[in-house]
Amino acid sequence: MSDEVIGVLSCPECAEELVRAAPGTHWCAECEWNLGHYEPVVPRHGSRGKLRLAQRLRAWERRAAFRLNQRSFRELSQAQPTKPVWTRARGVLVLTSIALFTGTLELLWLGCELVRTFPALSFLLGVLLLGLGFELLPRLPRRPTAYAELTRDEAPALHAIVDAVAERLGARPVDVLTIDPDFNASCGRLGWRRRRVLTLGLPLWAALSPPARLALIGHEIGHLVNGDPGRAIITQPALTTFARLARIANPHRSTFRYNSRSQLTLLDRMAERLVRLLLAPLFYLALLLQSILAWVGSRDSQRAEYLADSIAAELAGSAGALELMTTILRSDEVRVAVRRAARVSADPADWRAAAERASSTESVKLRRLEQHSIREDVLLWMSHPPNGLRLRMLRAWFGAAVQPPTLTIDPERWHAADAELSSYYRRVAKALQNG
Ligand SMILES: [Zn+2]
Ligand SMILES: [Zn+2]
Repeated sequence: MSDEVIGVLSCPECAEELVRAAPGTHWCAECEWNLGHYEPVVPRHGSRGKLRLAQRLRAWERRAAFRLNQRSFRELSQAQPTKPVWTRARGVLVLTSIALFTGTLELLWLGCELVRTFPALSFLLGVLLLGLGFELLPRLPRRPTAYAELTRDEAPALHAIVDAVAERLGARPVDVLTIDPDFNASCGRLGWRRRRVLTLGLPLWAALSPPARLALIGHEIGHLVNGDPGRAIITQPALTTFARLARIANPHRSTFRYNSRSQLTLLDRMAERLVRLLLAPLFYLALLLQSILAWVGSRDSQRAEYLADSIAAELAGSAGALELMTTILRSDEVRVAVRRAARVSADPADWRAAAERASSTESVKLRRLEQHSIREDVLLWMSHPPNGLRLRMLRAWFGAAVQPPTLTIDPERWHAADAELSSYYRRVAKALQNG
């Protein structure tokens, strides 16, 4: 983070000193005056007068996204989100999905018909349409290449904890539990069999206290029961088809593969330019439609994210949820602390101690990190709200009140779960040392 305090400028609202993220607009760290004000970035070189359209659009987009984020925050901080309802956005995504899927099937049918005209030349067009149709058919998210899959025999205590969370949330138990060396966690239904896969990144897992670990599993499994449009099979065509079309039609990809561009003849270059010219409108149109649909889905996705946070807080208690969110917001510092600890020890207790030291510094810094996230993590089609707002949302819901957890796990079981993972902690420690 490269914020700086600008001593000479003071806030018109409260007279405190202003800060800014370079390059960017000044804002007041005290009363947050101007936090959502974005100026187009003026290029250092070239003509300063000619602001490129893209930069203007980017500034406009950030202002709009900031305002939308604030609006969702205001609405949901008054009343915690409840189980999903049929929103207008969801309706749009489902109808678009049906239309796109039908369109793709028609494309394939037309392709088949044209292929049958062989040996007429229209046969070639048929082959092209078939190729395009297959490429546009919806695909389900695949399972990531797992670092390690933990069977129930290998990790009975950890599986028992995850099962207890699923049972409490009214979700079916996860089918596959995997771990990886990332500072992250995820959960989703993958493949045609829609198997529930939960992945825990060991550096994040080790950095958390037991209640925060419960909040983490609660948040992830909460996504299986909270109606997130990004995870529903019925909205997949709307959210992915145009992105695939844009990838196919990308005119910036070289159509002609040669070892060196100097081998291109004049005719090749002209043909390439022609192909690019023909593809460009299709590419930009696909990109625009993809952005619009992602924007339509993003508000529901953000709501689903807050709902998963609310589910996590109800399960693990407000303290666990707040610790989890604070750790995620401070991930830069905590990640470094865990990596350092992993250099000398593969004991998760040491990693946790290092993480705790890294995230226990003064509240002024935390507030600045919140502001930075609220200001910078803004895109109209972002599926996650800024982490700074997620932390503030938890505070808005609970205030000074401490909500007790509705699920607690015996300390012995946590120890057993860590002991089951000991060989993986050593493996991840080695990966962190080398990485
Ligand atoms: Zn101020
Ligand atoms: Zn989430």
